[in-house]
Amino acid sequence: MNNKKSKELFKSAQKILVGGVNSPVRSFGAVGGDPLFISRAEGCYLYTEDGDAFIDYVLSWGPMLFGHANPIVLKAIQKAMEHGTSFGAPCKQEIELAELIRHFFPSCEKVRMVNSGTEATMSVIRLARGFTKRKRIIKFKGCYHGHVDSLLVQAGSGGLTHGYPDSAGVLPEAVQHTILCDYNQIESVAEAFKSYPEDIAALIVEPVPGNMGVVLPQNNFLNDIQKLCQKHGTLLIFDEVMSGFRVSPGGAQAVFKIKPDLTCLGKVIGAGLPCAAFGGRAEIMDFLSPLGPVYQAGTLSGNPLAMAAGSAMLQHLKDHPELFTAAENMQKRLVQGFKQVMQKRGAQFQINSIGTMFTLFFTSNPVNSLKDVQTANKAQFARFFQGMLEKGIYLAPSQFESNFLSSAHHEKEIDQTVEAFESILESIQQVGQK
Ligand code: PLP
Repeated sequence: MNNKKSKELFKSAQKILVGGVNSPVRSFGAVGGDPLFISRAEGCYLYTEDGDAFIDYVLSWGPMLFGHANPIVLKAIQKAMEHGTSFGAPCKQEIELAELIRHFFPSCEKVRMVNSGTEATMSVIRLARGFTKRKRIIKFKGCYHGHVDSLLVQAGSGGLTHGYPDSAGVLPEAVQHTILCDYNQIESVAEAFKSYPEDIAALIVEPVPGNMGVVLPQNNFLNDIQKLCQKHGTLLIFDEVMSGFRVSPGGAQAVFKIKPDLTCLGKVIGAGLPCAAFGGRAEIMDFLSPLGPVYQAGTLSGNPLAMAAGSAMLQHLKDHPELFTAAENMQKRLVQGFKQVMQKRGAQFQINSIGTMFTLFFTSNPVNSLKDVQTANKAQFARFFQGMLEKGIYLAPSQFESNFLSSAHHEKEIDQTVEAFESILESIQQVGQK
């Protein structure tokens, strides 16, 4: 791997951009080395400024369900672009995307478009508080809901990687009504409701967390939290910004057959353009301005380019559900391949996977909670990441993240990835226990 140009660019970037990046995990802080600068991407490949190609399992952190530069998406953006880039007024593409969202997520009776997942979760919390006239919210340790003040408490993703689950600048007052519970521990949720039986506006959860690495709900956990919410008049919010269109086309709510009151979506629905949304029961959504008293707005919300890209993506998925199955099958082939290699070499690392997502955890304990995730050996992860990168495989640069498959990954790339893993496994095993 030749990364001379990337190194030079990173030096220049550090002089003008904070830490050289615009989002912390991209800096490779958790794994060492300098980040690669990407010049273009196509299918399941990333191409660096140095001219190297990498098989990409990050996929822009999830959006690229059909791989990069999908011609259908590009054509839709080009066509929309010819008519102008933003109107700040209603356009018909907004209706199209909202209807497609409701097709896949029937719980979203009404939808509001925003520009990022963070905006979706921030707005949905305000809406839940406005609707219920209550102040407290429940969130789970290791779940990440963007960098919203009230939700940046023991959050996953970059917060975990960089060791600052609580950010400086978040006032104690901003999180004083946030109650932290343990994912997959229904007792901790029951305890919270016992303490505040009538004051919890909402419970927000990544139904299948991906931001502490992929963790799966155990023992009817999601059903049980819904029952507690219903009993106490608390709104159930599924943050499916990551799991939506990834765990299944209908997200985690389709797989686990649960209808939340409100849902946050992002990533895939914008096909790589800045776009997110939240939706839910009409009577709650109608509490939003201009119909209701909860204010929420955005200059670029419902942007025609983002709407066109997202609609092209979701329409294509609707017309070709087999593309999701293809991506899911590649996940299964990859995970199976990794497991076989580990068995051959007596390695007992854990892999959690579902739909088009997976995480390999460097621990021998089953991983069902943030506590389990934290038993992972970060030095082994760093060796894994760097070793795979040297072999042309681009994985999420943190133990506490999900990797993603697309319909543009094929057997050739999967088998190449498994071979790369086999060739470096011994060196990973040699990394001392932390
Ligand atoms: N919620 C979840 C579950 C996410 O995974 C993310 C981002 O990774 C967000 C919210 C925040 O989205 P954004 O980065 O678009 O602000």
